[in-house]
Amino acid sequence: MFVDGRFRASSGDDRIDVSFPYDGTVWATVPDGTAADVDTAVGVARAAFESDAWGDAKPSDRRVILNQIADTIDANTRELAELETLQNGKLLREMEQQMEALGEWYRYYGRICEEVESGRTIPVDKKDGQMFNYVRHEPYGVVGAITAWNSPLLLTAWKFAPALAAGNTVVQKPSEETPVSALRFAELVYEHTDLPPGVYNVVPGYGHTGAALTAHPDVDKLAFTGSTAVGREVAKTAGENLTKVSLELGGKSPNVIFPDADLNDAVNGVMKGIFAATGQTCMAGSRVLVHEDVHEEVVARLTEKASDIKLGDPRDPETEMGPVAFRGQWETVHEYVQSGLAEGATITVGGEMPADQPGECFIQPTVFVDVENDMTVAREEIFGPVASVISFEDEAAALDIANDTEFGLAAAIWTRDMDRANRFVETVQAGTVWVNEYRLIAPNSPFGGYKASGLGRENGREGLEEYYQTKSVWYNHAGEVGDPFVLDAE
Ligand code: NDP
Repeated sequence: MFVDGRFRASSGDDRIDVSFPYDGTVWATVPDGTAADVDTAVGVARAAFESDAWGDAKPSDRRVILNQIADTIDANTRELAELETLQNGKLLREMEQQMEALGEWYRYYGRICEEVESGRTIPVDKKDGQMFNYVRHEPYGVVGAITAWNSPLLLTAWKFAPALAAGNTVVQKPSEETPVSALRFAELVYEHTDLPPGVYNVVPGYGHTGAALTAHPDVDKLAFTGSTAVGREVAKTAGENLTKVSLELGGKSPNVIFPDADLNDAVNGVMKGIFAATGQTCMAGSRVLVHEDVHEEVVARLTEKASDIKLGDPRDPETEMGPVAFRGQWETVHEYVQSGLAEGATITVGGEMPADQPGECFIQPTVFVDVENDMTVAREEIFGPVASVISFEDEAAALDIANDTEFGLAAAIWTRDMDRANRFVETVQAGTVWVNEYRLIAPNSPFGGYKASGLGRENGREGLEEYYQTKSVWYNHAGEVGDPFVLDAE
C-alpha cells in the first residue's frame, strides 16, 4: 500500500495476483487491503488535511504541485503506459497516447483552481445595504476515490486532480485488476513533487476494501467510477452516512446513423465506438441505430471492417485489438453473446474465441443484427467488443429507441443535416453528445451521465465544483439585529 508518502505493509496477509491478460502471466502481487488498512489511510489523510503543510497551501501552491505531477507523468509516460497494458491488456499505443495526454488534466486543474472566485460578494438587499455577504469555497476534507480497471490512471486523474486543486486529501482504492499503476504513480509523485505526505494514499484490495472506504465515517466525499450495480451500493451507503457522492457509471450509448451521413466516416465512428479498447469503455457506442435505407450497406461495411481487425499482443504496434482484461470479463461477454443468439439476434461476424491467440481472454469483434431494443444485448452493458445493430424507420423512431434505456452516458449522430443534429442534441438524454464523431474527451469538457449512468460530473469546471462546498458568510455593518422573532427572508 502507499500511505503517508511511502510504501507500507498491509495489516493482513492476503494478496492479489496481477496478470497480463494477453497470456495469463502473473507478474505482480499486491496486498488485499483490510478495513484496518483503510482506517489507517483515512486517518493519515485526515491528519494531512489538517496539517499546515497542506491546509495552508494557497491555490498557487497547489498549482505548482499539480504542474510538478504533470511533469512527472510526462517524464515517465512509457513506463506508466507499459504498466497499464500489462494490467488490462489495452493497446500499448493507446496507453502511450493516454499517458502523453494525462498531464494536461493536472495542468488544467492547476490553472483553474486559481480562478475559483472565493470571496464573490452578493448584493443582498438587507438593512439598507449594511450587510456584507460573500461566499467561500472550501474543500470537503478526505475524499475516498474508487476506480475501475479500464483506464486506471485516467480515471485516477479525473478524481485526484480536481480533489487536489480544491485542497482535499485522497485515499484511492484502485480496481483489483489494475492496482499496480496507481501504486507506482503514487511513488513517482512522492519522488518528484512537493506534495506533502498523506495527501494522496493508495490502498489496493478487492470490493470489500472499496466497501470499507465507502462506509468509513471520516470520509467526507466519495468519487466512484464503476458499474451501475456497485454504484447503487456506494450511493446507498453514502446516503446512510450523508456523504457527498459522485458516480461515473455504465452506459449503453446509441450511435445513430442517418442515410445522409458520410457512411465511411459513420462506419469508422462505429468501429471507434465499440471495438477500440476491446469495447471496454464506459462510453462505448454499443447500440448502433441505423436507418433502414442504409442498414444493409452499413452492416456490410461494418462486418467487413470488423473481420479485418488484427488481434494480437497489445504491445505490438500492428495490433488493433487486444484481449479483454481478465477471464471473468471474457465469461461475461461470452454469456451476453449466447443470450443474443438465444433471444433471436443474428451474428454477422465474430462471437467466438479466436483459435490463433494465446491465453483465455480473446474474443472476436462481434456484430449482432436483427436486434430489438428490448433484447438483453440492447439493454445491458456488455463491456466488450459486441455491437448490437438496430434498424429504425424515421427520426422519431430513432430518438425513441435512443432514449429507451436506463442509461444516459453518451450518444452520437451521423448526419449532414444540422437541423436534425440539433433536434437530436436537444432531445437525447445523455451527458455527452457527439455530432459526426465518437469517443472524444478533454480535461476542460464536463463528462458524466444522465439517468443510471451517474451523478455529478468529472472534468471541466463542473468537475472541480464536485470537490468544493460553499459557505455563505454574512457581516452585519448596520449594528442592529432587528426583531428576534421574525426571519428576515424577504
Ligand atoms: P465495478 O463496479 O465492478 O468496480 C469498480 C470499483 O469498485 C473497483 O475498484 C471495485 O473493486 C470496487 N468495488 C467493488 N465492489 C465494491 C463495493 N461493494 N463497494 C465499493 N467499491 C466496490 O466496475 P469495473 O471495475 O468492472 O469497471 C467497469 C465499469 O465501470 C463499467 O460499468 C463501466 O461502464 C464503468 N466505467 C464508467 C466510466 C465513466 O466515466 N462513466 C469510466 C470507466 C468505466 P474490485 O475491482 O476489486 O471489484
